[in-house]
Amino acid sequence: METGLLIVISGPAGSGKGTVNAQLLQTGDFAFSVSATTRAPRPGEVDGVNYYYISHEEFEARIASGDMLEYTSYVGNYYGTPRKEAEAVLASGKNLILEIEVDGAGQVRKKFPEAVLIMLLPPDFSTQESRLRGRGTETEDKILGRLAQTREELTHLDIYDYIVYNETGKSEICKEDILSIVRAEKLSRKRNPDAARRYFGN
Ligand code: 5GP
Repeated sequence: METGLLIVISGPAGSGKGTVNAQLLQTGDFAFSVSATTRAPRPGEVDGVNYYYISHEEFEARIASGDMLEYTSYVGNYYGTPRKEAEAVLASGKNLILEIEVDGAGQVRKKFPEAVLIMLLPPDFSTQESRLRGRGTETEDKILGRLAQTREELTHLDIYDYIVYNETGKSEICKEDILSIVRAEKLSRKRNPDAARRYFGN
């Protein structure tokens, strides 16, 4: 059976990752990995749906037992992808999306050279800034911190294969862009090394 693509989607705060990922999920062709984290749930978040919320000690034990496909420490908390679930999804033939930050993306790049890494961006920096301020949910300090972090993260853009822009109000186009990437990747010669043999039926 065909194995699914391992797809990483990273995006700074305000890139609209959540909206785009929800649209991708609706197509039925993708599964999302539920990460483990040591951060506390935000209001409305559900254990086992948004994240698996576990203690610092448990996280470190799971790192030690090789249970994390990748992990990082981000703003004082651990975040990581549980290995077993991810492998089970890929073996089922579904495309697996990891919504992770840049450090974790780098680890995936090294361990799984065949993974497809996509960076989702707002159309430009000033749009990102106004999206974050428009939310009205964060202090000025936090907003400035996220913007500074975006500058740092984008110094690592070279590990990504694709950059997709999420224009305001056009997340549907963004979803289509990602579907096009997936279609093209599946048709790529490097992912079809036995095309001639299959063509001739032997
Ligand atoms: P938040 O706390 O806002 O849910 O997530 C903070 C950041 O951690 C986001 O950039 C998110 O993509 C990233 N993240 C979430 N889960 C994982 C994970 O399993 N591994 C890594 N490396 N990053 C993650």
